[in-house]
Order: sequence, then C-alpha cells, then structure tokens
Amino acid sequence: MASIFSKIVSGEIPAIKVYEDATTLAFMDINPATRGHTLVIPKDEHADLFAITVQRVALALRAVLQPDGINIIQNNGAAAGQTVDHMHVHLIPRWAGDQALRLWQPGQAAAAELRTIAEQLGAALAGA
Ligand code: AMP
Repeated sequence: MASIFSKIVSGEIPAIKVYEDATTLAFMDINPATRGHTLVIPKDEHADLFAITVQRVALALRAVLQPDGINIIQNNGAAAGQTVDHMHVHLIPRWAGDQALRLWQPGQAAAAELRTIAEQLGAALAGA
C-alpha cells in the first residue's frame, strides 16, 4: 500500500511544497515541531541526490528564517519514533530557548563498555 508520503509525491493528497526535483521532494510538516519544520523525502531511492537536497534545504532555512540552529533528524523504526514508513529527514529550525524538543537525556556509561562497543563497531566496519 502506498504510504501517505507516496500519495503526496503522486499528488493524490496535498502538501505545502518547498522544493521538488526529479528525485526528491521537500514539504512543510503538517504538525511542525517548530516554525519551519520541513520534511525532505526521496521520490524513489537516490541517496546521493537526496543528501544534497537536505543540505540545500537546510541552507535555505538558515537564510530565510535565520534560526540559531537546525536539527536534522531521521527516525528509523517505531522504537526510534518513526510513524510514516517512507524514509524521510526532518529539518527542524531551532531558536535559543525554544524548548521544542530535547533529543535525549545524557546518560552514563563505564569506559570499559564504551571501549567494548567501539571495538565491536570497528570490527563490523572492517568486515563490511
Ligand atoms: P515520523 O514520525 O518521523 O515518521 O515523521 C512523520 C512526520 O510526517 C510527522 O512529523 C508528521 O507531522 C508528518 N506528516 C504526516 N502526514 C503529513 C502530511 N499529510 N503532510 C505533511 N506532513 C505530514
């Protein structure tokens, strides 16, 4: 079944579009976390062009809205907060003190645990 974002791509449902090219579409999030919350999605899978579009839209947001910062977030899986099963990137302009979102509470970990995970990641990358 087509995702809600595929329906936006096909024009079946409306969206407030920011930018569109042959492979990517940027549009305003319907329930924005902050003013300017923008979604960038691939129409298909074209990772390189997609990444370039995220950067271009981020630069445009910075120029137009002049935020103090921008969160670029990509949720993967329900446990990570993803609700629409179509890869997408959130560009969320931030203003000092806006309290719009706090991504995580700083945790604590033993150095030995960090070293173990780093070694496992290193091995996985070496084998990839
Ligand atoms: P996620 O929860 O990371 O999957 O993000 C999905 C995002 O899509 C949410 O921030 C929604 O507000 C947004 N969204 C869902 N439907 C629409 C729509 N029709 N137009 C624009 N944004 C949408």
